[in-house]
Amino acid sequence: MKAITTIPPGGGVKLSQVSLENTKGVRVKTYRTGICGTDKEIAQGKLTFARPEIGSSLVMGHEAVGIIAESVEDSTFKEGDIVVPMVRRPGGCRMCRLGRQDYCEDGDFVEAGIRGKNGFMREEFIDDPRFLVKVDNPSIRDLAVLTEPLKNVMKMEETFQFLRTRIPWYCEDSTLSCKNMYVFGTGTEGLLISIVFKSLGMNVVAVNRHPLSENVMDFLDRNRIDYLDTSSEKLDAKVKDLPMDAAIDAVGAMDVLKEITDNVSNNGIAIMFGTSGQLPSHNFDVLERIVDRNIVVVGSVDGAKNHYAEAIDFIETHGKAMQMDRIITGKYQPEELNIFTEKEKGEIKKVIAWS
Ligand SMILES: [Zn+2]
Repeated sequence: MKAITTIPPGGGVKLSQVSLENTKGVRVKTYRTGICGTDKEIAQGKLTFARPEIGSSLVMGHEAVGIIAESVEDSTFKEGDIVVPMVRRPGGCRMCRLGRQDYCEDGDFVEAGIRGKNGFMREEFIDDPRFLVKVDNPSIRDLAVLTEPLKNVMKMEETFQFLRTRIPWYCEDSTLSCKNMYVFGTGTEGLLISIVFKSLGMNVVAVNRHPLSENVMDFLDRNRIDYLDTSSEKLDAKVKDLPMDAAIDAVGAMDVLKEITDNVSNNGIAIMFGTSGQLPSHNFDVLERIVDRNIVVVGSVDGAKNHYAEAIDFIETHGKAMQMDRIITGKYQPEELNIFTEKEKGEIKKVIAWS
């Protein structure tokens, strides 16, 4: 069958012929796979921890939705069920054994399409039903390709809800309607963060360092999300009008942490999600602010099976009203490998159609 493969960590991307793995499990026919920054980094040889499962070649792809083609006796899945496969598979540590490989203690996990496990950019794959999450509503099968990036956001929300209970961090009417959340980054992940926190009733400001594309501005406008281009407007001027009560970074540059700690309100919450491998250009004096102003800064990566299920619920509940289909800006065939290197005008999320 057709598969998109790479030779990690060197990179490159090609259309190959691979055979179905000879393991026990359910057979899943791939429906859609999404491409994100991680896939592009792997293709460009920039992700040093990318590694094959066996041999030298790795099947790419970690964002997917598929359809059960053949089930097994002890599984609850039946032919035709729509499923989203989980990316990270547990190792042997205590958190992994508790189903929380997103909090792995020793790094002994594998990630499909990234490190140590073949991914989903192929026509079919055999999988362990424990790592498949069902999509009950067939009408969201196209949007369900956003489940994987969205599950990261559901974990961020869980972390945020936990951290805000330090103090009565809510408005006088008990809601979050007076609270402003600044989201740094307007790629797929940034936009998903923005709509999830908007759905909590917060006022959301999407921050970008470059002028936003029309597609992105249109999406934000439709969801009544404010935005700021810091290449032409000043962040501190915005914060004067609209205090930064909390912030989430989906960019992954040290100076974003500095921007957040310089501007976030006392008792603020900052969730760091992005990584880019960029080192700080100088020492930032962030620690004093974090301590003196009770700022909590937390890292958040990946998500557990319950977050995949919550992401699917979110798409079902809000997908149509929040026009999430506008995030998917291009649908391609597996042969169109230039999508890994070229960026289309107005591109947000590209997907590959496998069937
Ligand atoms: Zn572990």
